[in-house]
Amino acid sequence: MAAIAFSTAPNPKPTPFSSAYPSSIAHPFAVCLQRRRWRRPFPALRSQPSASASVSTSHHDVVVVGAGIVGLSIARHLLLNTPLSVAVADAAVPCSGATGAGQGYVWMSHRTPGSDTWELAVRSKQLWEELADEMDGLGGGGARESLGWMKTGSLLVGRTSEELATLEEKTKVFCQAGVHAECLSASSLRLLEPALSVGNEGGAMLLPKDRQIDAFRAVSSIEKINSSYSPEGRYMALYNDPAMSLIRSEVTGRVEAVQTSKNILYGRKAIVVASGAWTRSLLHNFLGPNSTLDIPVKPRKGHLLVLEKFDKLKLSHGIMELGYVDHQDVKLNSVPLSSKSNEDEHDDLSISMTATLDTKGNLVLGSSREFKGFSREVDRSILKCIWDRAGEFFPALTNVHLDIEQNTDIRVGHRPYMPDGKPVIGFVPDLSNVLIATGHEGSGLALALGTAEMVTDMIIDNPGRVDFTPFSIENRFSVLLDFS
Ligand SMILES: Cc1cc2nc3c(=O)[nH]c(=O)nc-3n(C[C@H](O)[C@H](O)[C@H](O)COP(=O)(O)OP(=O)(O)OC[C@H]3O[C@@H](n4cnc5c(N)ncnc54)[C@H](O)[C@@H]3O)c2cc1C
Repeated sequence: MAAIAFSTAPNPKPTPFSSAYPSSIAHPFAVCLQRRRWRRPFPALRSQPSASASVSTSHHDVVVVGAGIVGLSIARHLLLNTPLSVAVADAAVPCSGATGAGQGYVWMSHRTPGSDTWELAVRSKQLWEELADEMDGLGGGGARESLGWMKTGSLLVGRTSEELATLEEKTKVFCQAGVHAECLSASSLRLLEPALSVGNEGGAMLLPKDRQIDAFRAVSSIEKINSSYSPEGRYMALYNDPAMSLIRSEVTGRVEAVQTSKNILYGRKAIVVASGAWTRSLLHNFLGPNSTLDIPVKPRKGHLLVLEKFDKLKLSHGIMELGYVDHQDVKLNSVPLSSKSNEDEHDDLSISMTATLDTKGNLVLGSSREFKGFSREVDRSILKCIWDRAGEFFPALTNVHLDIEQNTDIRVGHRPYMPDGKPVIGFVPDLSNVLIATGHEGSGLALALGTAEMVTDMIIDNPGRVDFTPFSIENRFSVLLDFS
């Protein structure tokens, strides 16, 4: 039996903050929404917080809160496609949120043609392809080096005849939607991916054009592009500087700036909140205790197991079990769109197998989903479940001893989960220049570039390549919080 030793670094970059900032430092100039109308007179607007001596002020066209893949991609898209200047503020550093835990698949296989997110996913994938082409055009290691880009394709796999029937049906639907898809029987699959076992009755749907990125590399490349606009004064990144409140004009009621722990960032044109799973608590801080708007995004914790330079398994594709599709959308139809829904309703753990090899030959195995608040604790029993589940599909792993007590490179992150399964991308009603972009759950890497384009189109009042309507706040959050 070959042994794999793991060391004990639980997170690549732990987040040095909790789910919500203490109320003592929150919203000195809270913006209040009451029945979607401004209450006059506007809440008192002070021009400086008490710590004014140490607070710097700067002016930008757009201020983005959150430097995960979504926030940084929005900044990039604005910088490349408009003359606007952008500041990005993060409570920690890029990749400290869900982005740093992402497996990296930019796949269509687990999506549903015709669903609300389909067009956004198609467009976003196209934008990733274009970015990869650009990176390849720059020479050097090209997209592989700069984005961790791999043209592996994906296999969505099932192990029973029922699952194979579902995959056959799915393949037809994908083909009708214009996506190259093939359904493979167990024997064809064995030839294509010999290490994978689905029994004699199973099979797979192959999407040869699915792609893969490495979140850390992609973020680093996007940061590099953004920073190239700093010398001309169009880009500023502020890390370890949490946003705490919004500042608005006493005269017009318009939100003018974001107050962070060290800065006041004026955003002439727009303020974008892209703070992932933290968006709900941040909005509570931003909008104040009387706000009737609640975006019920919540953290869905996930573990990934990374086996460095793993040579006991050869994979040619990214692989996902069919069960992932339900696991991602769990109880979609039964969850009310209210933050008053039972927080513990879904705290049952679910695990479904995903397996990818990255450009360095690391085997990345996923993944778990559970509602555990913002805990970043590594649960070794979950890692064992991920490992055991992978062993059911890759028999070679059952001959490998996994020493979980000495584990290394374990990724833990909080997917920004929305009960209705769709991201929230749009203006806050009645705050004409404040936008939210969050709630991408397990698809934020894949959807980031499409989201960035959509936010840019909203800001510059372009019609948009993809219909904004399914993602808007207006008319979506039917049950509002009553804080009174
Ligand atoms: C285990 C796992 C595997 C995944 N695999 C994939 C995958 O293969 N493909 C895919 O597409 N997606 C995947 N995802 C999902 C993806 O990682 C997320 O959807 C995506 O990273 C969300 O990006 P984000 O920028 O919205 O949020 P985050 O990356 O969480 O960024 C939010 C940022 O906001 C900051 N912030 C919070 N509060 C404040 C504040 N007050 N002020 C300023 N900043 C603040 C945080 O520090 C953080 O940096 C996976 C997720 C997990 C957990």
